[in-house]
Amino acid sequence: MPLGCFGCNTPLLLGERLICTVCRNQLPLTEYNFTDENPVDRIFYGRIDIKKVNSFLFFTKNGIVKNIIHHLKYKNQEQIGAFFGQWYAQSIKERLDIDIVAPVPLHKRKLTKRGYNQVSLFGKELALHLDATYKEDTLFKTVNTRTLTKRNRFSRWKANQDLYKVLDEDSIAGKTILLVDDVITTGATIEACAIALKKAKGVTIYVATIAVVP
Ligand SMILES: [Zn+2]
Repeated sequence: MPLGCFGCNTPLLLGERLICTVCRNQLPLTEYNFTDENPVDRIFYGRIDIKKVNSFLFFTKNGIVKNIIHHLKYKNQEQIGAFFGQWYAQSIKERLDIDIVAPVPLHKRKLTKRGYNQVSLFGKELALHLDATYKEDTLFKTVNTRTLTKRNRFSRWKANQDLYKVLDEDSIAGKTILLVDDVITTGATIEACAIALKKAKGVTIYVATIAVVP
């Protein structure tokens, strides 16, 4: 049984890897760059000081990006992250000057369960092509979020302020950091991570994600 495409499940042809040629040509690229203002930047206006936010793809409810991200997160297809990281890096590397690439971390219990952080390889590829240092443990998650969903809104908001922490603030002081994640929906995760990063002195934050919900 030949491997199916992660976008459309059609058997892959000889020479195709992970995603078939048809899906590759249909991927909804945002074509946002790190120069002009874009709608993902606007999600964070008035919330947190982030220099620039960027996403590689549009995430739609029914579609190939959703299928691909599902394989990346839940089907042990970690290499999809590397594939997108490599591709994305080509279009952004001339525009960014980054010291450290840091992933949004999973809570350690969730990491143990999944076996990998789904954005690690995406971040590593970006770091490689941007000549930056990849630091997996820049941030850690303080609580497993599932336990938060039962609380009321205010209590959730309060908890969100301390959801992530920086392991070693001195090691990132004065640095330009590219925070990476899989999908931006409301921006709450990125905001919480940025709050933590800002506790270190003189940090500049950029964000890059695989996809954004339009
Ligand atoms: Zn396909």
